[in-house]
Amino acid sequence: MKLRKKMVAGNWKMNGSVELVNQMANAVKAAELDNVDVVVFPPFPLLSNAINTGLNVGSQTVSHEEAGAFTGEVDASLVYELGCKYTLVGHSERRSLYGESDSLIAKKFARAQSSQLIPILCVGETEQEREQDLTESVISKQLDAVIDDLGVVSLDKSVIAYEPVWAIGTGKTATPEQAQQVHQFIRTKIAALDADVAQSLIILYGGSVNESSSELLFAQPDIDGGLVGGASLKPDSFVSICQSAQ
Ligand code: PEP
Repeated sequence: MKLRKKMVAGNWKMNGSVELVNQMANAVKAAELDNVDVVVFPPFPLLSNAINTGLNVGSQTVSHEEAGAFTGEVDASLVYELGCKYTLVGHSERRSLYGESDSLIAKKFARAQSSQLIPILCVGETEQEREQDLTESVISKQLDAVIDDLGVVSLDKSVIAYEPVWAIGTGKTATPEQAQQVHQFIRTKIAALDADVAQSLIILYGGSVNESSSELLFAQPDIDGGLVGGASLKPDSFVSICQSAQ
C-alpha cells in the first residue's frame, strides 16, 4: 500500500510581493519541513522569484488553450518551463467570478497534464447547496467533468482540493468530521472506478484553515493536507500549518 505524503499548498490569490516571497522562502527553509510537500501559488509575476528561492511553486490558473490570440491568458507549458510543478484548476473564485464551467475546467486540467504540470482540482459546494443536502451531488458532478472526459486514471497525476465555498475566506472552517465525511465520499467514489488511484490520491482540505484548526483536520484519515488562502500570506502561520501536517 502506497503511503500518501502530506501536502500544504498556499494560495496567495492577488496578494504578495517580492519581499513576501523572500520572507516565505526563509521561513520555510528554516523550518526544515521534510515530511510534507510545501507548495506556494503566488501571482504570475512572482513565479520566477519564488522558483529562484528554491520553493516548490505552482500557478493559480492556466489557459485551456495552447497558444494564439488569447490576450492575457498564460499557457501551461510556459508555466512548466519556468519551473512550476503544479497549477490550481477550478478554484471557486475562478468558477464564480470568471464564470469557469466544469467543461472549461476539464480542458484546463487536460492542458496542465499535457504540459507536465500537476493540476490541483478544486471542488466544493456553496452554503445553499449544503443546506439543500446537495453536497455530494455537486462534488460528483465537478469530479465527473474530468473523469468522463479524461478517464479516472487522469486523477493519478493530480491532487484534489475539497474547498466548501462557504468556508473560503469566511473564517468558517468545516469541522474535521464534516471535512472527513466529504473526503471519504470523494475517495470512495473514485475507488469504485479504480482502487489504486483512490488509495494514492492526495485530497486536500481548504477553507479558512489556520494554525488552530489545521492539526485536527490533517489528522483525519482521508485528509492529506491543506490548501490555505489567507493564512498562507503570513510566513509564521503558514509554517505552523505545515508543521502540523508533518
Ligand atoms: C483558498 O483560497 O483556496 C482558501 C482556502 O482561502 P482561505 O484559507 O482564506 O479560506
